[in-house]
Amino acid sequence: ATPLSIMVGTGRGARAGILFRSAEALEAAHELDTIVLDKTGTITAGRPALTDIRATAPFSEDDLLRLVAAAEADSEHPLATAVVATARARGLTDTVATAFDSVTGKGVRATVDDHRVLVGTHRLLDDAGIDAGPLEPVAAELAAEGRTPVLVAVDGRPAGVLAVADTVKDDSAAAIAAMHGLGLDVVMITGDNERTAAAIARDVGIDRVLAEVLPERKADEIHRLQSDGRRVGMVGDGINDAPALARADIGLAIGTGTDVAIEAADITLIAGSLSGVVTAIRLSRATMRNIR
Ligand code: ADP
Ligand code: MG
Repeated sequence: ATPLSIMVGTGRGARAGILFRSAEALEAAHELDTIVLDKTGTITAGRPALTDIRATAPFSEDDLLRLVAAAEADSEHPLATAVVATARARGLTDTVATAFDSVTGKGVRATVDDHRVLVGTHRLLDDAGIDAGPLEPVAAELAAEGRTPVLVAVDGRPAGVLAVADTVKDDSAAAIAAMHGLGLDVVMITGDNERTAAAIARDVGIDRVLAEVLPERKADEIHRLQSDGRRVGMVGDGINDAPALARADIGLAIGTGTDVAIEAADITLIAGSLSGVVTAIRLSRATMRNIR
């Protein structure tokens, strides 16, 4: 594109809260054919709240919440924050973990009142040789509602399931419809489980989902799409997302996200909503049309 059309495109972007890192970023965005969206904090608000507590006998709801809050007290995961907030509101944060270990993309292991407590995904329990089978029907029911089931085991036995839910941002569904209108394929990527991811994808009109992707594998999934000949735009907000943003043909960071994501991105969407993706691609297409 000519320097003038780049200047015009960059200026229009800035007024719409879209910051292009370079002229190349503004030019290359028009070639994208696939948009990969992180779920938490990108499609959803990223502020999950605790919605359900299903304790297995002999544990009561309060027992379970007290143990889990103690185990999660030192975790920085948004899901941990949600659990601890509810426990605090109910006066159940009087117990402290004596050992704590966070397992990336899976959950936490802790020792609470001399009990071994595991909190997280089906895989976390599997890895410890614990049969999560008895918790499966409840977990499946919660996940079908688009909530994230958090499985709990105490001393090697299933002890219950909590659920945490995040709300979809107001304009996510409309923005995804607009991406489809531009002829783009839209894919959701998440560390969350298949069922929860599928329920949320259905709500926002996404038909392709990559779920249960461990943080360090997100970039590999982008590479796989590129190997199929696709030009991939990746949209994310978290520390986890930085390698995938860097790997994509164009990385788009949600402006309300972490600095690490913004540093790795080619385009920053200041407003923090998905409509910015649509505007950025329209601007790029308009800029490239002007030179032909
Ligand atoms: P995402 O940011 O896409 O939700 P993560 O890789 O951070 O994915 O986590 C994947 C899944 O691992 C979460 O959906 C959750 O089920 C589980 N998990 C991660 N951290 C914790 C934690 N501190 N407590 C409980 N579960 C967790
Ligand atoms: Mg995330």
